[in-house]
Amino acid sequence: MYAVLGRLSALLLPHQCVSCRLFAETTGLCTACWTRLSPVTAPFCQHCGLPLTEQLVDGICASCWATPPEMACIRAALRYDDAARDLILKLKHGDGLQLVPFISQLMAARFVELTADNPFVVPVPLHRWRYWRRRFNQSAELARYLCQHYERGVYAPDLLIRHRATKSQGGLSRQARKRNLTGAFISSPTAAQTLRGHPVLLVDDVMTTGATLQAATSCLRRAGAGEIRALTIARVI
Ligand SMILES: [Zn+2]
Ligand SMILES: [Zn+2]
Repeated sequence: MYAVLGRLSALLLPHQCVSCRLFAETTGLCTACWTRLSPVTAPFCQHCGLPLTEQLVDGICASCWATPPEMACIRAALRYDDAARDLILKLKHGDGLQLVPFISQLMAARFVELTADNPFVVPVPLHRWRYWRRRFNQSAELARYLCQHYERGVYAPDLLIRHRATKSQGGLSRQARKRNLTGAFISSPTAAQTLRGHPVLLVDDVMTTGATLQAATSCLRRAGAGEIRALTIARVI
């Protein structure tokens, strides 16, 4: 009976693509929106997640060989291109929260890999002014959904605080981004008691140069975190 009702409602209420709002064959994205996205696929650097043209013996890119990143592991679901940008802009603005389950699904395989030892899952925080304006932090919504839905990791949105409002990073050089983020994060007063060498997975929307994730990592490291990893929806390649 319920199955029949379910089929009937699917006929009467066709699925809508969560991105373009046109008719979709199934929940999530329509075929056209799907094919525009570019997932990051293997082979990629085992440290920083950068896609590689061929599988190297040790699986590490030249840049990680020269200067190993402080984060043990960085992963992204998508390459940052026009389609990824559209999706992330929709998530950040308007009624974007309904995209959270879909985008979490894109990140799920990497999330599961990075949470085998049940780390704290820490969203990169927004400064409170930006939070008030937007009413939600897209990274926090993703982190919370991933922890709840996949029953892994300990959602910990209060360990890291955006101490200083930073200028938008767009259009800044690598050095300027780094300067812009100096002192941007502080750890919560109780973070040191909570962290005590425990691993942490940072969650953010886009990785451009990695300066934001690096600033958050240094802050958590000073507060006593163990291994730190990062997962983003997309990364600039
Ligand atoms: Zn669509
Ligand atoms: Zn690398």
